Amino acid sequence: MKRILVTGGAGFVGSHLCERLLNEGNEVVCMDNYFTGRKSKIVHLMDNPYFELIRHDVTLPYFIEVDEIYNLACPASPVHYQHNPIKTIKTSVLGAINMLGLAKRINAKILQASTSEVYGDPEIHPQPENYWGHVNPIGIRSCYDEGKRCAESLFINYHHSNDVLVKIIRIFNTYGPRMEPDDGRVVSNFIMQALQGKDITVFGEGTQTRSFQYVSDLVDGMIKMMDTDDDFIGPINIGNPGEFTMLELAQNIIEITGSKSKIIHLPLPSDDPMQRKPDISLAKEKLKDWEPSVDLKSGLIKTIEYFDNMLQDQSIKALV
Ligand code: NAD
Ligand code: UDP
Repeated sequence: MKRILVTGGAGFVGSHLCERLLNEGNEVVCMDNYFTGRKSKIVHLMDNPYFELIRHDVTLPYFIEVDEIYNLACPASPVHYQHNPIKTIKTSVLGAINMLGLAKRINAKILQASTSEVYGDPEIHPQPENYWGHVNPIGIRSCYDEGKRCAESLFINYHHSNDVLVKIIRIFNTYGPRMEPDDGRVVSNFIMQALQGKDITVFGEGTQTRSFQYVSDLVDGMIKMMDTDDDFIGPINIGNPGEFTMLELAQNIIEITGSKSKIIHLPLPSDDPMQRKPDISLAKEKLKDWEPSVDLKSGLIKTIEYFDNMLQDQSIKALV
């Protein structure tokens, strides 16, 4: 049995990761400051004696003995990470420094949840790991993009200078149950709008693309990456190469929900990437038997069911 620390464990992805790691027979310590996470996402794990919860902000140091660390703490939705940009940068950068320092001290292996946002508004399509990206360092997304890029640099340098065992994954747009209904991300926005018969807000013409990955495929990839040989550190793309325009996504969601909502267009936010699709050749080569297995329609059906239940059961919202 391994003892594993998951920072950001009460968030959308973190809650699924904690659950999977527990189911695989590990002891899991979930650390979160509840900025965008909630206890309601992990309440079902709390009776498990091998699950522990710590309220802590990763911008401050923490000491604990664990075998592995998954560093997920960081708001991920543009609305959330732009709410307090300086705090977002501190979370990525100081959080990485504190967790890498901990990993070094206790000799733990550590995985960084980096992002496709390190590619910015990419000029190469699809994006392979050796593409350096096209990021506006002073734009509204830079607190997130540059924070994550700096964290990657910290990970690589702790590895080369201090022999810390690190792994870097670049996650592409991921969706699924336990996303926040009001996090402003496109999947949650469109589903909530469709279920409530509200207008579906497509930003810009809706021709921009994203590649959407269902959360269980991401969790599989994360755990497989942690288990790769010590000399493989990444970065590695983890995403589903199925690429859709935002108009196609809206139409898919209208069709599945049978909604009468109509599509309206709102201004495109600045620096919004026009296209995004992972090249996953490296992941297929390095991660044993990994490739995304949930297509967009199947994943959307499960996610819509989750949000529909949430709308029916108001008591879920009342949970802290
Ligand atoms: P999320 O906002 O649901 O989860 C982030 C978690 O981190 C929350 O529980 C939040 O409370 C916690 N957190 C934030 N700041 C913290 C701090 N200073 N100290 C301690 N905890 C803190 O987002 P998510 O979608 O679950 O994303 C998880 C990770 O994956 C993030 O690092 C994100 O950048 C990365 N990622 C996600 C996606 C995606 O599409 N979901 C894509 C690329 C990268
Ligand atoms: N988007 C949209 N309507 C919304 C929310 C988002 O058209 O209500 C667009 C957004 O402009 C972007 C895409 O959907 O082009 C994905 O946005 P999201 O915030 O989910 O993720 P990110 O931009 O970080 O990939």
